[in-house]
Amino acid sequence: MPVLSYVHQLFNAEQCQAYIHTLRWKERPLQCPRCQSHHVGPWGAYHYQPGLQRYRCKEKGCKRTFNDLTGTLLDGSKRSVMHWILATFLLCLSCSSRRMARELGVHGRTSYRWCWWLRNAALSYEMHRQLEGTVEADDLYHTAGQKGQAPHGGKKALGRRARGRRKKREPGRGHYDKDRPAIIAWVSRQGGVVIHATRDFTVKTVQKAADLAMQAGSKLYTDSASSYRLITGYEHDSVNHTKKEYARGDVHENRAECLFSLLKPYLRVFRGISKTNLSGYVGFFQFLRNFHQLTAFEQAEMILYAALDPSIASRARQGNFVKCLDHFNLLQTARN
Ligand SMILES: [Zn+2]
Repeated sequence: MPVLSYVHQLFNAEQCQAYIHTLRWKERPLQCPRCQSHHVGPWGAYHYQPGLQRYRCKEKGCKRTFNDLTGTLLDGSKRSVMHWILATFLLCLSCSSRRMARELGVHGRTSYRWCWWLRNAALSYEMHRQLEGTVEADDLYHTAGQKGQAPHGGKKALGRRARGRRKKREPGRGHYDKDRPAIIAWVSRQGGVVIHATRDFTVKTVQKAADLAMQAGSKLYTDSASSYRLITGYEHDSVNHTKKEYARGDVHENRAECLFSLLKPYLRVFRGISKTNLSGYVGFFQFLRNFHQLTAFEQAEMILYAALDPSIASRARQGNFVKCLDHFNLLQTARN
């Protein structure tokens, strides 16, 4: 039985609609989404969506009607706002889209689409995050192939159930073309994390990632990988793991390694990830970590707040935020 059939006895559609209404217009002026006029008034309701308020623009030449959901991510959805609120909550509890489909009683493709839209909406909080102070960095290679993609990548469906997605690991350093892109984590001791999924681990890539993740002049502690030693613009010190040195006074990268110990089980839930989608998953994990002091419902409220902003919603539907990350992380060139 879908979770809604239990939960609807605890809270109903009208209350959810009222919650969405407050979230939609809280800190945003009530205005017409088409002509931005503030000269609007209530204009009845909908019989099929109890609690959804309808408005009419009184501006000359506009006179269009709209409601709480016009232009948002939830606009045009056949599912109730209760489904959306619970879906966002489950996403913050790091559920897979299949699990979400089962819990909510929606189709798997619906939940997959919602997951991506909502992840994109969450990424709007993470687009320009820059760390300061003392930053620890570490790298990881994550096996990510072409799950759900056409044989040579791209958007086309396989036309059959995906199989044989278990990748054999090649020796040596990973690379996007070898289906093992690198993930670099930057953890500030003053709070905040930035995680990049990158094509490779060359000096050029690491320099670019560092410039995006940290403010110039920050203190950087890493392991002895040569790519870190050659980057410029930061006060750098490292520990040598090959000599069994893991901490030398203040110099260590244990927080970055700890972050990976949380990232790995998070990614395991999805049972293999396509390399074209990796930055979306990693970016959402970054959001969850940066707001880890909040409960899942508070995080869900933040995502819904972003999803109810028409300008964020239209970019989230097109996947612009993930594309932006791909571009930063030099993945986009690989896609074309
Ligand atoms: Zn108008």
